[in-house]
Amino acid sequence: MEKEVDYDRVEYATNRNLENDEGEETGHIKMFSYDNELFFFEMTCPYCEHSFEDEEELGSRPWWIECPECERSTNVFRIKDAHERKVKDRGDTEDVDLDEV
Ligand SMILES: [Zn+2]
Repeated sequence: MEKEVDYDRVEYATNRNLENDEGEETGHIKMFSYDNELFFFEMTCPYCEHSFEDEEELGSRPWWIECPECERSTNVFRIKDAHERKVKDRGDTEDVDLDEV
C-alpha cells in the first residue's frame, strides 16, 4: 500500500534505506507526520526484511520503531535535522543523508 502524502501539510517526512548490523541496506522506511505527534510509517525491517505499516504517536527523540516480526528496534533519526546541521556547518558533509522529499 502507498499512503498518499499531502506535501503542503506535511511537517516531517523521511524516505530512506535502513542498514542491518553488517551495514547493508536491507531495510527501508517511509515516514511522515502532519503535526509532529502522530507519525505514519511504512517500514521494511533491515534485520528480517519483514514489511509492515503503522501509525504511532512518537514523543521525544530518539525514536525507536519495533519490528513486530523479529522484535528488534530501529532508530529513526530526523534527516531534516541532519540537513540543517549541514547547512550551518559546511565542514563535514560527507555522511549527511539528505531528505529527498
Ligand atoms: Zn524484523
